[in-house]
Amino acid sequence: MFRDAAAAVIGEAWLSGWTPDPRLSVCDWADANIILSSKSTANAGQFDSGRTPYVREILECLSPDSPVHTVVFVAGAQVAKSQSMFNYIGSVIDQYPGPLMMVQPTVDMAKRVSKQRLAPMFEDTPVLKRKVVEQKSRDGSSTMLEKAFPGGFLVITGANSAASLRSMPVRYLLLDEVDAYPQDVDGEGSPIKLAIARTSSFGDRRKIFMTSTPTIKGYSAIETEWLKTDQRKFFVPCPHCGEHDVITFDRLKFNAERLDDGVELVCNHCGALIEETYKTQMLAGGEWRATATSGSGLVRGYHVSALYSPYGWKSWRTCVEEFLEARGNPEKLKVWVNTVLGETWEEKGDGTSPDLLKARREQYTAEVPDGVRILVCAADVQKDRLEVKVKGYGADEESWLVAYTVLNGDPGQGEVWAELDDFLRTRFARADGTAMAIDTTLIDSGGWHTNSVYRYCKSKGGQRIYPLKGHQFPGKAIVSNPSRNNALRVPLFIVGVDAAKDLVVARMQVGRPGPGYMHLPEWADDDYLAQLTSEKAVRKYIRGRGVVRQWIKAPSARNEAFDLEVYCLAALYTRGHNYLAKLLGTGNVLARKPAPAEDAEPAEVAPTPKAPIAGPGKWGSNAPGTGPKWGQRASSAGTWGAF
Ligand SMILES: [Zn+2]
Repeated sequence: MFRDAAAAVIGEAWLSGWTPDPRLSVCDWADANIILSSKSTANAGQFDSGRTPYVREILECLSPDSPVHTVVFVAGAQVAKSQSMFNYIGSVIDQYPGPLMMVQPTVDMAKRVSKQRLAPMFEDTPVLKRKVVEQKSRDGSSTMLEKAFPGGFLVITGANSAASLRSMPVRYLLLDEVDAYPQDVDGEGSPIKLAIARTSSFGDRRKIFMTSTPTIKGYSAIETEWLKTDQRKFFVPCPHCGEHDVITFDRLKFNAERLDDGVELVCNHCGALIEETYKTQMLAGGEWRATATSGSGLVRGYHVSALYSPYGWKSWRTCVEEFLEARGNPEKLKVWVNTVLGETWEEKGDGTSPDLLKARREQYTAEVPDGVRILVCAADVQKDRLEVKVKGYGADEESWLVAYTVLNGDPGQGEVWAELDDFLRTRFARADGTAMAIDTTLIDSGGWHTNSVYRYCKSKGGQRIYPLKGHQFPGKAIVSNPSRNNALRVPLFIVGVDAAKDLVVARMQVGRPGPGYMHLPEWADDDYLAQLTSEKAVRKYIRGRGVVRQWIKAPSARNEAFDLEVYCLAALYTRGHNYLAKLLGTGNVLARKPAPAEDAEPAEVAPTPKAPIAGPGKWGSNAPGTGPKWGQRASSAGTWGAF
């Protein structure tokens, strides 16, 4: 037995006065200790890391002896990705204990993994059984599972619970299936960042192990992290000429009509056809080689596709069969690319490019161009500011961006709301010298400072200033009847975000002025246009739900301008169908489904006229009459994306 051999070496070393580090590498420890339960895997019995030799270097980086602190492992199906993580947990508990956290995409999945994979491993592996004790969660919540062991603890939780992600400092952080994490958790941003922040107090001693099957190109969290690394790939030797190469799908040779003839790998060097029976030998002779120079050396990336699955697990032939079945069906093909190749899928989403919109920018003749018949406003509430947009709508919902501003200040305090007051009282000039007031305003109450939004709207009773809450639910109407089911009895509008986004993006694609066309003024700069086009509709594979259509945004992108476009449309629709039909006509407007009229509120409130605000910088530097007074950003940085 390996353990006896190791003990003998250590014993001898002790006798000779030399004190070696008695700890085994993670793989050697797993080989010596891990018993795979038949309850959790088809490959029950003593664990053998020789089956998946590519895992060895990955886990060695994660032992305390290595200076590497972050490992990004991108993988296809059936390459022992999860088992690697479990082995690592076992070796940490037994050999270098400390606070350890494993994050699954959801709390439910965390519970499942704990029950179905970890519990049997702890039960069947004697050294772990002796050490691991079930704990009552220290915060008493059911969103966190906790186990204690001498010198540390293990927390298992879900990326959908912000509270548990920032519960305590951890030295070892395991992030499993990160591409299935929500982009934002409880309004606190990326769950990955939130969890990683917990490791900061351990400095260079921390270990972060992140794995996933990737999803959509440009939107995949694991891809984002992978691109920061040295991007290692596993080069295996050709059994015929000995040259090392990466196993790729395009090297597989097969006859689609006659798979029984075999699926073989072509050697790019000697041209030999390699049968899959050589795989075990090839994997054993493989080595990791960096394919990029990015990364500091302390962050490493590893990638293996399902084509590396050990002989007897997922075969090359199965990979080919699945490909042939998925061919011609983008949804299936995407799943195949993600799970077999372990690569991101490039989605041709329903979006619009900023360049196309840039080309349509025009000089308005006045703040409010002639076609506008109604002005509406929407405000987005952020932690430290309000972002506010004013749109004008004309016949058949042709629309004009009229103003956009940022009011800096804590929405938990009064000042920024007083500024919003000023702004909402503004009258916007028309070419004929008359002025126009904002008809309806919606303020997002679904994110930050919900109570402040409610209180503000309550104080504006009768002025058509309402809170809104976005619902991401396919098929939900853009605006539903308002509900007063809240403490302040304020009419709250629920906005069907998916439908509204579909309509907004469809309208961005309307190419010439007329029904539905969106006019943009010259001051709509690149950052504004980038925000406006920051999201696209994609088909996404979600475990347990299958393929779902979803609006997503690039991880780093800001999208307030797009959200506000959606909310302005919703603000218009709060006017109800009959009112809008009279005002804007019932022409061929793309899929318009306004809510029934909301009669409870007074029709029109004349806002108090207000003197133009002087002084450059605050609302933009244009003097009245020379251009869009509100057409620039209020922040001193003067640029989009400066936050
Ligand atoms: Zn060869």
